Amino acid sequence: MTNREYLHELRSATADQPLKILMSACLAGITCGYDGNAYGEYPSVLKLLQYENLKIIRFCPEDFSFGTPRAMCDIHGGNGMDVLHGKAKVLTEHGEDWTEGMIRASEKMLALAQQEQIELAVMMDVSAACGSQVIYDGNRFAADKVYQIGAGVCAAQLIKHGFKVISQRDYASLEILYSKLDPSYLIDPQQIDHHETEWYLDYFKKR
Ligand code: SF4
Repeated sequence: MTNREYLHELRSATADQPLKILMSACLAGITCGYDGNAYGEYPSVLKLLQYENLKIIRFCPEDFSFGTPRAMCDIHGGNGMDVLHGKAKVLTEHGEDWTEGMIRASEKMLALAQQEQIELAVMMDVSAACGSQVIYDGNRFAADKVYQIGAGVCAAQLIKHGFKVISQRDYASLEILYSKLDPSYLIDPQQIDHHETEWYLDYFKKR
């Protein structure tokens, strides 16, 4: 089932029974980015923060394992699912191996998702931990940096265990979510998810 099909079937939230989502903490304004900042404000997410019938569980997996501030890391030799299967590694920009710590963080995130019985995860795309649609393929600071389709390690752990993960750029999916939080909300049919954007289609067609 696609994310959008799942969201269409998701129950509507009420004040008594809020929808429960897990969110990358930096998206919710927590200053847990590698440099001690949040990663900016996304209107698509700020909108979510306003709903009172939404319970948001905030978590930063990299802060859990490596603290803040910390080095920047990326996945080498595959994507997040490959890391979980022992086929790829997480390395910092300085070459330090963070694979084990990242897997530990993903297990903590999964435990939180299961304990809280979340119904969706909304996570920061492109992160080696939280990315769900696109991540870097190797070192993001390389002169010839490249992207790959795939999830980061923690998003992959959630997906592997049946949770649905969308990013802050999946505007069509978010539209459906807003309608589950507000019955009067009119879905904008013009919105698209990240994998439908011109950039995505163009970039990955050429690779
Ligand atoms: S690990 Fe995830 S929650 Fe933490 S700063 Fe990176 S993207 Fe945000």
